Amino acid sequence: MSFLSCAEMLTYAHEHSCTLAQAVLRSDLAESRLTEEASRAQMRRLWQVMQQTSRDYDPSRRSRSGLVGGDAAKVEQAAAQGRLLGGAYLSAVTAEALKTAECNACMKRIVAAPTAGSCGVLPAVLLPMAQEGQASDEAICDALYVAAGFGQVIAARATLAGAEGGCQAEVGAASAMAAAALCYLKGGTAAACAAAAAMALGNLLGLVCDPVAGLVEVPCVKRNVVGAVNAVACANMALAGIDSSIPCDEVIDAMGRVGRQLSPDLRETGAGGLAATPTGRAIARRLAAEAGGV
Ligand code: SF4
Repeated sequence: MSFLSCAEMLTYAHEHSCTLAQAVLRSDLAESRLTEEASRAQMRRLWQVMQQTSRDYDPSRRSRSGLVGGDAAKVEQAAAQGRLLGGAYLSAVTAEALKTAECNACMKRIVAAPTAGSCGVLPAVLLPMAQEGQASDEAICDALYVAAGFGQVIAARATLAGAEGGCQAEVGAASAMAAAALCYLKGGTAAACAAAAAMALGNLLGLVCDPVAGLVEVPCVKRNVVGAVNAVACANMALAGIDSSIPCDEVIDAMGRVGRQLSPDLRETGAGGLAATPTGRAIARRLAAEAGGV
């Protein structure tokens, strides 16, 4: 019983007088045949890995290309010096998104949520909540089920792959999942969670996949920050009672259609967007020459 629409997911929760997290958990149990205890243990494990990735972050590490690494530490330092805008939570969200995405570029262990390229978005909005004592591990696991529910519907109705749908399918989907999770964690209704997800995905519609030199580094790492900050803004709007003008399922369907309309150059081939800029091409040539021992 996996949900094929957000509407179905919300209707199930309403008709069974359960939370959105419970609705997704039950759907997971029906699919996986796991016990509730085993499913929750798996989710707790994913959350532990997200926390461990952040703890293990090493600012001195650089990615294979040398383009990525150390930026999360810069944000933390600037925040500690009071030089940044947006308050402590937003600074922490920015730093955590960079940390996890940098770790991915540096081949460290991450949770693909929903993909490796977009792995920084979901932990970025959740880790500061836990660090500030605003959410227990169990509450965060519930929020992760909510995120998984929306991710599953996006996978079923559209795609989660940059090669198929562009970056809107990766960072956009991660942002929608994070917005719903955050809204849930802050006590938002199921309808508010769906609105948060719809607004987050809608805001990133059309985002192209254009990795420089074909590496999940530039622009991927910084796009994780955009996905996370967008998730916070959309969760806030939903919590304030703002609805999405377009229902979540229709936004997801639109994302799938836009993905199919994107030129192949803008779907992970590294042939368009930032990858095709003079600097992007020069980086690709340099890396190719280095790999060839030239
Ligand atoms: S630009 Fe492409 S490879 Fe990079 S995060 Fe987005 S979808 Fe993934």
